[in-house]
Amino acid sequence: MGNTGPRNCTAPELAKYGIDLVDFVRVKLQCQQCAQVWAPDHDRGQLVHHYWHCPNRCNHTFSEG
Ligand SMILES: [Zn+2]
Repeated sequence: MGNTGPRNCTAPELAKYGIDLVDFVRVKLQCQQCAQVWAPDHDRGQLVHHYWHCPNRCNHTFSEG
């Protein structure tokens, strides 16, 4: 289990993956480990599959099988 990422782009879900939702309107995320803030990419109005990955790879282990 645990290879699909957060079910929803909501603060409680993202928190499970070490992420804070700092702006839910424009969708800005912050890594709880390194404090990096990033705005995830979108593809035709939908968040890309790995939008919740910290750019510094802090939480990438969550998506490894
Ligand atoms: Zn990080």
